[in-house]
Amino acid sequence: MTLEDLAKNLRQTHTNIHLATADTFYWSPSDKTVYYDSRDSTTEGLWALLHETGHALLGHTQYYSDIELVQMEVAAWEKAKELAKEADTVIDEDHAEDCIDSYRNWLHRRSLCPACHLSGVQIDNNHYTCIFCHKKWRITAERFCRPYRKIVA
Ligand SMILES: [Zn+2]
Ligand SMILES: [Zn+2]
Repeated sequence: MTLEDLAKNLRQTHTNIHLATADTFYWSPSDKTVYYDSRDSTTEGLWALLHETGHALLGHTQYYSDIELVQMEVAAWEKAKELAKEADTVIDEDHAEDCIDSYRNWLHRRSLCPACHLSGVQIDNNHYTCIFCHKKWRITAERFCRPYRKIVA
């Protein structure tokens, strides 16, 4: 199955979802559109499209705490597995786990105090504070737009 075949299939079975091409895979709650990179012909590309469509169908929007973001990643992969079944394909379990882990690691890194490197406490959508040195820092507003390939350290 090609990415375009899958996009066509998703458009037919989920007529309420908008799909459009872009430079990467992401779900945009503001314009209610799932973007996908049509140049990506890998299996991971198919899985990424299913995953982002999962976010869309679950109605995931912005403004959540980091803990909720991880829960939404897990939920989006669960939904993606259902969508895969509908489209007669299967998502590799290890791939979903790796993606959730890398997402978790990314959130963990940004929760660390830039001054003393201890784990901070999130105070609102865009800020963390350190309970040890009282430093406050800003985090990016970036949401459902993470690289899905495993980063080789
Ligand atoms: Zn996601
Ligand atoms: Zn600190």
